Amino acid sequence: MDTQPTASHYIGGRPTEDTAGAPLVSFYPATGAEIARLHAATPAVVEQALSAAETARAGWAAMTGSERGRILRRAAEIMRDRNRDLSILETMDTGKPLQETLVADAASGADCLEYFGAIAAGLTGEHIPLGADFAYTIREPLGLCVGIGAWNYPTQIACWKAAPALACGNTMVFKPSEVTPLGALKLAEILTEAGLPAGVFNVVQGFGEVGAALVADPRVAKVSLTGSVPTGRKVYAAAAAGMKNVTMELGGKSPLIVFDDANLEDAVSAAINGNFYSSGQVCSNGTRVFVQKGILPSFLDRLKARTEAATIGDPLDEATNFGPMVSEAQRDIALAYIAKGVEEGARLVTGGGAHALGGLFLEPTVFAEVTDEMTIAREEIFGPVMSVLAFETEEEALARANATEFGLAAGVFTRDLARAHRVVAAFEAGTCWINTYNLTPIEMPFGGVKASGVGRENAHAAIDHYSQLKSVYVGMTPVEAPF
Ligand code: NAD
Repeated sequence: MDTQPTASHYIGGRPTEDTAGAPLVSFYPATGAEIARLHAATPAVVEQALSAAETARAGWAAMTGSERGRILRRAAEIMRDRNRDLSILETMDTGKPLQETLVADAASGADCLEYFGAIAAGLTGEHIPLGADFAYTIREPLGLCVGIGAWNYPTQIACWKAAPALACGNTMVFKPSEVTPLGALKLAEILTEAGLPAGVFNVVQGFGEVGAALVADPRVAKVSLTGSVPTGRKVYAAAAAGMKNVTMELGGKSPLIVFDDANLEDAVSAAINGNFYSSGQVCSNGTRVFVQKGILPSFLDRLKARTEAATIGDPLDEATNFGPMVSEAQRDIALAYIAKGVEEGARLVTGGGAHALGGLFLEPTVFAEVTDEMTIAREEIFGPVMSVLAFETEEEALARANATEFGLAAGVFTRDLARAHRVVAAFEAGTCWINTYNLTPIEMPFGGVKASGVGRENAHAAIDHYSQLKSVYVGMTPVEAPF
């Protein structure tokens, strides 16, 4: 497959290049082979993208919701038709197994385009009766939106931001992560093919400073970031200076609580999905697995056996279900945390370091006897490192689960229905699961509380973050004044 795009950026409905920009290279994580050589946006490219999006704004906003929706739905169809090619590209850009990308990346992007394409025509204000008078609200787009992505779900993140933004009549400049520049360019091409007017969705490549330049521009009305908490703090502050709207999808250290009465195999499956999918590089992962003492020995036995049965290897082989880390930097971060876990006294159940395949491959790693104070239980690792913590009572598990600055996600496994709902009600987390984990269908709002974020993506909830209401009071009666 030809992985080198025609040009680094996509602006005003066409590929755009400026070779003066700093080199930006994408590697296939499984082999280290260079798959694309691009350039970061220069200030001239950033300006070109912002002005294209600004120019396209009025025309796009003036179209009807049904016209906008039809384009998004057509783009969803094209994405589905090309799912295999897009998945191979995503696998090469990220290193995630093709087995995953075939079902989770372009496919979920298509779901998102389809969902917002379907509701675009129904986005309205409301009529408010006020006796003889009345008021109404007009749902307006925010204007020019900036999307900034992380590297773990490049295509999905681009769609999760573009689709609701465009459905509401906004335009967007999207900056993918410098680690995974390719998926968003494909989305831009597909949207053009589906009939999107030039300039409505633009992609510029670059490192943090390109993101910062976009956020600082006075023409930008809204910024949606998917990234780490430290980046989120910077971007939120910069957006606040310009009084801009934000959506912040940030990191986590989410708890998964498994009670004695849980279905053991399902709970182990959820712990595996919630720690080792995408080699652990998932923001909502349940990396603190609290297991009640009665079930702990059997849970660890099954977890060890099943984790050791992972098929680790070439991500393009569809039999592979555990791939390499995305980059050397991310591999080294995970290795350092594994070393810290050992040093601080956690017990290694399985894994514990580099995989025999070498390169960016790590072993899926499980620590038991982890305590709340240990570094691996407190900090986001963003790698295949699971911490299992023992607990006795519901009250204790909840208190410990919530004792973190993060609040992205949380899960509970129990056959006791009342307890399940009581526990999720008490979780300080934006996205919760009962007897499953990490499912994020487009129909369900997704996002975090506390340091994990602001706002919600997906579902109807996203509309509130990409539109604003104008209130109009209509006087139908004579106007009285005191003098
Ligand atoms: P990161 O914070 O390093 O980078 C995210 C993006 O921000 C990149 O595109 C980067 O270039 C850009 N950026 C960096 N500095 C910037 C600045 N000052 N101004 C504007 N943009 C800037 O994150 P990452 O390493 O790409 O991704 C991993 C992190 O993302 C993890 O913490 C993970 O939990 C989080 N994440 C969250 C979600 C979610 O939906 N909540 C999803 C995926 C990843």
